[in-house]
Amino acid sequence: MERLFHIATDEEIKRGETTDVYFVRTKEILKAKGYDKVNVIAEITVSSLPEKWPWAVFTGLDEALRLLEGLPIDVYSVPEGTIVRAKDYYGVKIPLVIIEGPYYEFCIYETPLLGFLCQASGVATRAARIRKIVGKDKLLLAFGIRRMHPALAPMLDRAAYIGGFDGVSSLIGAKTIGKKPMGTMPHALIIVMRDQVKAWKAFDEVMPPEVPRIMLVDTFYDEKIEAVMAAEALKDRIYGVRLDTPSSRKGNFADIIREVRWELDIRGHKNVKIIVSGGVNEHNVKELADAGADGFGIGTYVSNAPVVDLAMDIVAVEGKPVAKRGKFSGRKVVWRCPNDLEYVVTPWNAEPPKCPKCGSKMENILVKYIERGKIIRKLPSVDKIRRYVLEQLSKVSEL
Ligand SMILES: [Zn+2]
Repeated sequence: MERLFHIATDEEIKRGETTDVYFVRTKEILKAKGYDKVNVIAEITVSSLPEKWPWAVFTGLDEALRLLEGLPIDVYSVPEGTIVRAKDYYGVKIPLVIIEGPYYEFCIYETPLLGFLCQASGVATRAARIRKIVGKDKLLLAFGIRRMHPALAPMLDRAAYIGGFDGVSSLIGAKTIGKKPMGTMPHALIIVMRDQVKAWKAFDEVMPPEVPRIMLVDTFYDEKIEAVMAAEALKDRIYGVRLDTPSSRKGNFADIIREVRWELDIRGHKNVKIIVSGGVNEHNVKELADAGADGFGIGTYVSNAPVVDLAMDIVAVEGKPVAKRGKFSGRKVVWRCPNDLEYVVTPWNAEPPKCPKCGSKMENILVKYIERGKIIRKLPSVDKIRRYVLEQLSKVSEL
């Protein structure tokens, strides 16, 4: 098949063509020797969380389920958007997904399955960490698709939104989450028109009224000069200014923001928001927010998030517990405390535990999503998943 770009198609992924060859060989051998009906339970657990994250936002389940749909297996999982940890209170690895069925039937899907979950979870987690740091009132926009393969834009933007961002810049990402894309204006517009005031006014004239008037104010002059110029040019039609200060000019970015806020306020432009982009990350975002930034365009830091390192392992064969060294065998139940989100993993037939932290009744968090190949529940909307993430974020304190 001729193709323009280095991407796998839906059909190729669904046929297992993005898998590692050793699974294909395993499948062949199992068939040749008559092991193709051997029933197993396999679990996906966190091997490690990057950068000492205490938790991650489990994301990518919708794609994972569509990958597995049609196979003669049952699939249980924690819901998409669940804040998960690597291990429970007692140090036992937490099964996030459990697959039950003939290993022969699903072995080749391990590679794409992990890929869907590991990357999306990493992106959503970085987004959620930033949301947790800045609190609920700051505007967070995902600007990061330009540094990633364009075929991934829908996944990246969806994951950032689920993690608690307010909007995404790509057309296709916005379509994926059912929203309008959000953005401002590039320096190129101002440079081509060779006059910032002319460019701002042109933006105001040409763009439909629902597009917020956020004027880029660092193209030719100092940020505070251009910010005041933009506010005076657009009067009460302006929504905000965007500072995208290059690193060579940054000095103390927080101080620049403070100064812009002051100069706007003193001239009666208190309503003009300050949006900041360029090099924003979880280490500097709090300082910039405290200095007066009302919103952030955050790019590569989120789209290029480290992946959550997940692994799939067999834990039972024909109903008997068996696992490799380093993994806990047998069918399990995953319990979570609704108050503090602490986890306890028990064997499947154990009594429901009380939360070891607060004594509350714990909830069985695994949900059956696929029964003999059929998706048996309606998957939640991205807005519902995002709300679930935000609600849990208010219950975690560590970062
Ligand atoms: Zn508890």
